[in-house]
Amino acid sequence: MSDVRNVIIIGSGPAGYTAALYTARASLKPLVFEGAVTAGGALMNTTEVENFPGFREGIMGPDLMDNMRAQAERFGAELVPDDVTAVDLSEDIKTVTDSAGTVHRAKAVIVATGSQHRKLGLPREDELSGRGISWCATCDGFFFKDQDIAVVGGGDTAMEEATFLSRFAKSVTVIHRRNALRASKAMQERAFADPKISFVWDSEVAEVHGETKLSGLTLRNVNTGETSELAVTGLFIAIGHDPRTELFKGQLNLDDEGYLKVAAPSTRTNLKGVFAAGDVVDHTYRQAITAAGTGCSAALDAERFLAALA
Ligand code: FAD
Repeated sequence: MSDVRNVIIIGSGPAGYTAALYTARASLKPLVFEGAVTAGGALMNTTEVENFPGFREGIMGPDLMDNMRAQAERFGAELVPDDVTAVDLSEDIKTVTDSAGTVHRAKAVIVATGSQHRKLGLPREDELSGRGISWCATCDGFFFKDQDIAVVGGGDTAMEEATFLSRFAKSVTVIHRRNALRASKAMQERAFADPKISFVWDSEVAEVHGETKLSGLTLRNVNTGETSELAVTGLFIAIGHDPRTELFKGQLNLDDEGYLKVAAPSTRTNLKGVFAAGDVVDHTYRQAITAAGTGCSAALDAERFLAALA
């Protein structure tokens, strides 16, 4: 059995690394599980990040995450590129099990496991991510000024993205696999009234085209099977997110959509000594800077919790 640590952090996106940096600088010697194949989090799958403050010319997503990692390591965070496979968070001493079955113990745990955006499941989708294919209009809309772009989805997020993108784009085509939207009435009305937005109903994206950048889509009508081509240089996929909370079910309180619940504005979960930050909590903002911000809050909450134990 390992020594009892002050704090274990699960996750290595902006939330996890920021929590690691703060707890390391507070001499708490955090142990950070980064994930086996996804260390660095969502920004490892993108190219340029232009909206993280402090980088005047922008920075590539993987470079930003390498910097965050190195900064946390510099102050003594212990980083392990492994998955956590089980947790028991109910007692004063919490246990976290790694993929080899080793049990690690800590007085506090910070959960920063992020959320996974749903993909279409097309062969070249990952390859063209950051090269025309995006999951975040706030992040990438600006890159598509005066271009023809498409949005996939029919819910509130899809309508919000389409309406936001119409500020920049020449045209926005919403592709939806049903013949009616799921979005709220107000969102629908706003999108229908926007002269730059048009709709392709009962259709899905069958193929994405382009060598180094997206150049077009093949659409398939789900009723007739008929295919058609759509020339676009941007595709925004807005079909939902899945917060990574499987490990915590039955222990931490989740909301209806599976996100961790915290006692906002703190990062406290329903269990003493367990804090949560970043996209695993956040339905609304889902940005690197907001994840980093709540990662900082979680570290400070954990630090105060540990100080009160002493
Ligand atoms: P994540 O970054 O998702 O990190 C979660 C981490 O937890 C991962 O490293 C994963 O490996 C780890 N993990 C999960 N489960 C386990 C486990 N069981 N054991 C160990 N580790 C685990 N935001 C911006 O502000 N600007 C942008 O330009 C921008 N571009 C984006 C482009 C793309 C393609 C995507 C997908 C997102 C983009 N975002 C952008 C959003 C931003 O990436 C997220 O809001 C942010 O990464 C969330 O940070 P996080 O730390 O909460 O989670």
